[in-house]
Amino acid sequence: MKSEMCSACGSSKIMHDMKIVDFGHGNAKNDLSIEIKTTDRILFNKFEKGALKAQICGSCGKVDLSINNPQDLWNAYQKTKNL
Ligand SMILES: [Zn+2]
Repeated sequence: MKSEMCSACGSSKIMHDMKIVDFGHGNAKNDLSIEIKTTDRILFNKFEKGALKAQICGSCGKVDLSINNPQDLWNAYQKTKNL
């Protein structure tokens, strides 16, 4: 949900679509993601992934998270109920 105002303090200093990264071996950057397993095999399972992005308030520091592909994740989530 894009908003031009901070839901906590009402500031309009909002930074949109900020990436959230995790630093791995050798400072390799990985986007933090949501992952849903859509198959139930022992090996080679399929996953639906969505990278997290943040909307950050430049006044109070409140962070709101969202995902770039909610529809895909919802479909995957529905599938997992039938596994
Ligand atoms: Zn704020």
